[in-house]
Amino acid sequence: MSENNFDVTVLGGGPGGYHAAIRTAQLGLKTAIIEKDDGSGIAGLGGVCLNWGCIPSKSLLKNAELVNQIKDSEKWGISFDNVSFDFSKAITRSRDVSKQLTQGIEYLIKKNKIQLFKDEGFLESSTEISLKSSGEKISSKNIILATGARPRSLPNLEIDGKGIITSREALELKSLPKAIGIIGAGAIGVEFAYLFNAYGVEVTIFEAQDHLVPNEDESISQELEKIFKAQGIKFELNARVLNTKGSDGGMEIEYEINGEQKNYSAEKLLMAVGVQANTDGLGLEKAGIELDRGFVKINDLMQTSSLGVFAVGDVTGKLMLAHVAFTQGVIAAETISGLECTPINYSDMPRCTYCQPQIASIGLTEKQAKEEGYNIKVSQFPFMAVGKAIAVGDSEGFVKMIADKESGELLGAHMIGPEVTEMIAEVGLLKYLEGTDIEIAELTHAHPTLSEAVKEAALSLNNGAIHM
Ligand code: NAD
Repeated sequence: MSENNFDVTVLGGGPGGYHAAIRTAQLGLKTAIIEKDDGSGIAGLGGVCLNWGCIPSKSLLKNAELVNQIKDSEKWGISFDNVSFDFSKAITRSRDVSKQLTQGIEYLIKKNKIQLFKDEGFLESSTEISLKSSGEKISSKNIILATGARPRSLPNLEIDGKGIITSREALELKSLPKAIGIIGAGAIGVEFAYLFNAYGVEVTIFEAQDHLVPNEDESISQELEKIFKAQGIKFELNARVLNTKGSDGGMEIEYEINGEQKNYSAEKLLMAVGVQANTDGLGLEKAGIELDRGFVKINDLMQTSSLGVFAVGDVTGKLMLAHVAFTQGVIAAETISGLECTPINYSDMPRCTYCQPQIASIGLTEKQAKEEGYNIKVSQFPFMAVGKAIAVGDSEGFVKMIADKESGELLGAHMIGPEVTEMIAEVGLLKYLEGTDIEIAELTHAHPTLSEAVKEAALSLNNGAIHM
């Protein structure tokens, strides 16, 4: 084989791409990965997640949590003189965290003897890729597309990176605005709302649907709304943002609630209304790759409509979460290697949001379970009845479970409260092992732990909760 001939070439080094590349290399395939340089000398390995998404935002959210705890310190008998919060240092720390992790990915790429091209690639056919800067050509028996997605604009609300920003610019703001309007109350919207509010910015969220985090179980949305209100975060629901114009020193938006037109102005607007796939300029048509509503169409094994070409991660428009991309990447790699893979049940993928209170869910919401015709039993167990939650001063929220009435199959779990993003894994394992409410209810959970809420919620399904 000449140097630029590979068994597998992965286009894009984000969560889906690097997982796929490492797994094919582990399985003995000659692998290349193409990722364009982000200007720092390190290719943008790690993708949006490590560079401009999950990781730096979690670093900043930890700051926000600390700030709120410090504001509340009297309650703990701790007082400070002249306490101040330097947002720019929080940003610097989050950039350092990102850098450390992206360097770690570059190390893993080298260790697995994967050839890294720091360039922009596009398809010439289903087996050939050209590189933009170097002009090199790569031949590959298989190609995995993992080019991700980017924030989407709305008509009349073009992102300019100054007055109208995305999470990308928000993650390196040098100074904080006095007020910010956040358009969209999905994960990005509510996470940044919590962050900015902690640092004293006046936050107003505009959400087109009737709830914050509208994809979650309705009870979770209502609990978040109650807690956000108490934190001082404002929000307008059923509010469709229509238009914007720059005004002196800020932005003005027009929005509509139930046919009534309203205005709002703030120094900045953060767009968080979802993403669009990075498919433009990739040469997909040359390889006969079909799209579905702008995303690359795939089957259960991540195969596109073009033989030998696979796609993973946000570019597929499935459930757009980094850990889903990880799993998709491994399935693509193992399928290429001839291994048998189990298709993903996207509904059973955990979903986590990291504002405070945190939100975590898996499986069906109560509404979905009813729509699917299940005869269900439902429980809800509050953290107020969990000793550890009271001891650590974090007892808002609850764990809700939905199970099939006859079989006890756990159909969904929905949590809001302290550390629930860590606790959802237990329910994921139960669902993976096709367990029922009985197993989780019988399992002894250490005391005192927050996870006792999971056991008690499962017990509640059969009226067996001890602390209620
Ligand atoms: P999203 O799709 O989760 O939420 C967008 C929200 O914007 C929706 O609730 C929608 O109803 C609302 N909206 C759309 N048009 C509107 C309008 N004109 N006016 C007002 N509201 C409008 O998208 P996101 O929050 O931008 O996140 C992008 C992607 O990144 C998602 O796939 C998300 O799951 C992922 N993400 C995940 C996490 C996490 O898992 N913690 C964190 C950040 C981002």
